[in-house]
Amino acid sequence: MIKFIMNLFQKKKQVTVDEILKHPDGKRYYKEIHNLRKSMMDEDALKIIHRLNRFGHKSYLVGGCIRDMLLDRKPKDFDVVTTATPNQIKNVFNNCRIIGKRFKIVHILFKGKVIEVSTFRSLPEHRTNQELLEEKKEILLKRDNKYGTPIEDAARRDFTVNALYYDPRNESIIDYVGGYEDIKNRILRVIGDPSISFKEDPVRMLRAVKISVLLGLTIEKKTKEAIYQNRAELAKASPSRMLEEYNKIFRTWESAKIFKGLAENYLFEILFKEVAELDKNYKGQNAGKYFYETKVGKLLQIADRKLKEREELTSSIFYVLLFSDIVERKIKSESGKLIQIIKSALEPICSRMEIPRREKTRLVKIYASQPRFLKTNEKNKSQNDIFRSKDYFYDAFLYFKILAEVEQNEAALQSAFFWEISARIRPSKPLHKGNSLNAKISKNSSRKKSKHKEVLNPPSNTNPKNKEEKIDQTKIQDIADSNLRNTIEEFDV
Ligand code: ATP
Ligand code: MG
Repeated sequence: MIKFIMNLFQKKKQVTVDEILKHPDGKRYYKEIHNLRKSMMDEDALKIIHRLNRFGHKSYLVGGCIRDMLLDRKPKDFDVVTTATPNQIKNVFNNCRIIGKRFKIVHILFKGKVIEVSTFRSLPEHRTNQELLEEKKEILLKRDNKYGTPIEDAARRDFTVNALYYDPRNESIIDYVGGYEDIKNRILRVIGDPSISFKEDPVRMLRAVKISVLLGLTIEKKTKEAIYQNRAELAKASPSRMLEEYNKIFRTWESAKIFKGLAENYLFEILFKEVAELDKNYKGQNAGKYFYETKVGKLLQIADRKLKEREELTSSIFYVLLFSDIVERKIKSESGKLIQIIKSALEPICSRMEIPRREKTRLVKIYASQPRFLKTNEKNKSQNDIFRSKDYFYDAFLYFKILAEVEQNEAALQSAFFWEISARIRPSKPLHKGNSLNAKISKNSSRKKSKHKEVLNPPSNTNPKNKEEKIDQTKIQDIADSNLRNTIEEFDV
């Protein structure tokens, strides 16, 4: 009661949004200064902005696309932000749908692409209310769904380089946070207090490393220190968002580099602690330096190379590589049923990371099928064909081959060769109709075909003693790889 009365009289300490921002008035960079032109932007995104503007809704391009173009990189997508609410957007466009539970955004549909339009959001109350911040034990954001002004929207974003707005009307960049200078100086910096930001959303630490590695940005000192100090907060991050972020990382085909960055920032030992316990090189201040010498580091490097640009990639192969050491060691040290040993090895890490049950089952099948690759009897053609028709076969084969390369296991490499070569002889009929390596393969078959020849790169370290032999074998393996791939496609028809 007394506390309540005191609170009534006590003046709340207020921090304004302006204090979080470097340029609260929105510094404009006009086209005389930068080189981003409307002609470089997605036409449909520009049409959306133009139409929203006509209906009186202030709208800009925002985020990754502006950052990437300023760094002379091709943006992955063009995101639009506006003062219009989702319902107002819906009134302006026919071809759209409102999505999202936590925060509603609008997807505007065009032929073969979707443009995301979101409403300016506000920042959490504790950012501008010191007292609330001190009172709150937990500032982890459960929802992030209050609409706000452009200024608030800039302040609630993760990094300065991600908070630039582009106004196509006069081709200017609006910068509230100093992101333009940071891009020019190649610096990755959290907006506002990095410790608060990481406590609100620990996934941002993973994003910080990913973005800095991919774009060659240096993590600013306070941001780096806050990653170290708050690394344990990662245990509180939403597992589904973490998996989403990992899946995006795998698709950069630079996962080895990014995981090295995680090791360098003491995050690998937290995020994959079950793996890190197996080898001291994953931990501590030298973890980044030694990462490429670790099992995971070696496996990921080969996987990135082999899978480059493969759109139909499944994430399973990367999880198999990441958990490889855990499973292999358990198999070596325990006796009993193989499936049971694999399941018990995977159980702790899969349940902690909340890997979906279907994915876990797939991982078990991939590990359990490994000894099958050593049975290379031509006479068992029909059984070999059945094995080859399994939906996990290609991932299992890749794992077998990548592992053989890392371990420089000649016998296993020969077996891998058998499965590649014998794949040239195609079975006359698909064995399991509707069996799909994954759905995306059949959907994108035309694009996929043109890519296959280049996607499966030759192994890098077979027969290290004999260079000539290595080249020959590499060539043959390359051809065999694409043949095998075609065979698998046949099954999916
Ligand atoms: P890319 O799409 O190339 O991976 P991106 O920066 O566009 O990079 P998205 O996940 O598409 O990444 O996010 C779009 C924008 O939303 C970001 O640029 C950033 O401004 C903001 N954002 C994304 N995630 C967060 C987060 N966890 N906290 C605060 N802001 C975020
Ligand atoms: Mg994006």
